[in-house]
Amino acid sequence: MERRRRLGRIDCIEIEAKSVLNRVLGMPFGWSINPYRGCYHQCVFCYARRTHTFFEKTGIGDWGSQLYAKVNAPAVLRRELSSPRWKGEHVAIGTATDPYQPLEGTYRITRGVLAELARGRTEAHLITRSPLVVRDFDVLQELARAAGVSVCVSLPTLDEALARKIEPTVAPPRQRLRAVRMLADAGVRVGVAVAPILPHLTDDERSLREVFAAAADAGARMAWHGVLNLNEVARESYFAFLREAYPSLVDSHQTYFRRKYAPKALVEDIGRRVARARRGIALRPRETIVAQPRRVQLDLFSRAVR
Ligand code: SF4
Repeated sequence: MERRRRLGRIDCIEIEAKSVLNRVLGMPFGWSINPYRGCYHQCVFCYARRTHTFFEKTGIGDWGSQLYAKVNAPAVLRRELSSPRWKGEHVAIGTATDPYQPLEGTYRITRGVLAELARGRTEAHLITRSPLVVRDFDVLQELARAAGVSVCVSLPTLDEALARKIEPTVAPPRQRLRAVRMLADAGVRVGVAVAPILPHLTDDERSLREVFAAAADAGARMAWHGVLNLNEVARESYFAFLREAYPSLVDSHQTYFRRKYAPKALVEDIGRRVARARRGIALRPRETIVAQPRRVQLDLFSRAVR
């Protein structure tokens, strides 16, 4: 069952999800949750655009304008977490959409999902580019106490003009850093994803150093990086952007991205620049909320129950 709502330039399709926990293979996490499909933010490099094509939508025009909200996600998740089949593994939130894109201001689905994870004592890792995440301090703290949570804020550059070009509707870098600081101050484990690193645009050592230094200063406990990769839909989007904004980079990128991943030599070269950029920058662990151990009770038959 679906219902359509017009929200400004967005065609929002409210859907009832049958399941919310998605099995993931070949990643450091076994399960993911994406409260929305599509993303208002329309980052030019977004690899998740491809997921729209699974639903007969384009990953280019429709990605930022035809959005799906899984309005029953918290209720479905409650059922899934209480199933005897659920083994309590940790889950990643926001692997194929931004869970704090502007729709979340209206629907509060991500908030409901976090509350259910806390209720079900299930650890979670959340990734977002949006400072709206700070709205949910209270549930993040609750989840941190119940099972553990970490939040990663994506921040590829501090250059506001460049950020506006590559992440057209995402809040400026300084606002994202303020969100990092607020989360750290609230005792939530928070990190920065310097990702994706864009060849010739965000990969120089000086600008990388600025991002890592700002992340450390804001209280990030961890920081990681990832180099641009382009599946077939992201490729179409990214090359359209280059042709428009940086035509002189088209040829080099055609060489780099004959396949989805950049050549090993380029990835390694960027990795060395990242290592040099990070030198001497200490991510100072702050005090964070520690998850309380699960209480294990023994019933009459000495069977462990949660
Ligand atoms: S915020 Fe994330 S999911 Fe949304 S368009 Fe940007 S990269 Fe894609």
